[in-house]
Amino acid sequence: MKKYILILIVLSIIPGIKAQESYKYSIVIHGGAGNISPENISQERATAIELKLSEALETGSNMLSSGSSSIDAVEAVIRILEDSPLFNAGKGAVFNHEGKNELDASIMEGKTLNAGGVTGVGDIKNPISAARMVMEKSPHVLMMGEGASKFATEYGIEIVDSSYFHTEKRWNDLQRQLEREEVEKYGTVGCVALDSEGNLAAGTSTGGMTNKKYGRIGDSPIIGAGNYANNLSCAVSGTGHGEFFMRYTVGHDISALIQYKGLSVVEAAKEVVHNKLKNAGGKGGVICVDRYGNIAMEFNTSGMLRAWANSKGEKAVIIFDD
Ligand code: ASP
Repeated sequence: MKKYILILIVLSIIPGIKAQESYKYSIVIHGGAGNISPENISQERATAIELKLSEALETGSNMLSSGSSSIDAVEAVIRILEDSPLFNAGKGAVFNHEGKNELDASIMEGKTLNAGGVTGVGDIKNPISAARMVMEKSPHVLMMGEGASKFATEYGIEIVDSSYFHTEKRWNDLQRQLEREEVEKYGTVGCVALDSEGNLAAGTSTGGMTNKKYGRIGDSPIIGAGNYANNLSCAVSGTGHGEFFMRYTVGHDISALIQYKGLSVVEAAKEVVHNKLKNAGGKGGVICVDRYGNIAMEFNTSGMLRAWANSKGEKAVIIFDD
């Protein structure tokens, strides 16, 4: 009994270590945060989004349950979302002010803290796979534009004509934004996962913000801002107004609150999203999974498209919040 009490005391005083629920694996996906309500999204589109998120979730959780690594699951899930025109990533990427698509993505491993990203690319079909190549095959973390495409080509990543990214909806969105002189946010995709080896991974992929200035880089390819993974704490993927996610280093901040202050993943995500970001005027949300498989999905917008599953067979796909 004495020994048991001692262990509990030790667990509660070591920062970042709390006696928490443990899962063999967990996965969370987001399809962007923003003004997501039945008034803004037709029933038909909502159903299509739900189906695509379910397909991605099923793929990721099947991989994890059969022993795949979290980094493989994260890449596979994000590729599915990038190939769909429904999300602001890959095929469905938004247009910048000049009517071009400039895509950003990054990926990170919690075990090694290895990371890779690409930014401002306009011809890589699946930027998340190019980001993984940067992580695994180059001595760098982040590569941009033409150089990133050249590098991706050398490693057999599929290159497409820039017209591949032209979708009617995104083009019309840009025309509306140009009229209103606004920069619209959100719609990015992301995935975080814990695998059965106890390794965390995070990935984020985006077209950025509609009507963004040429050459603008958002938070999604920036390690520690829109994407972060560390086996000592958690994996995080963000979506929202990237400038705030960069200035407030959202991903790393959540991780640090867990690692150094001993907050739970939900407490840490709430603190950053509902206090820090919100007070600064930064809109958006995050998905997180900690090293025990506990998850957090916090947003300060009206909605965030999301899905999650774990080794206990619990799962959900959420489009509209009540
Ligand atoms: N965070 C992304 C960016 O600022 C946008 C988004 O999440 O949709 O580029």
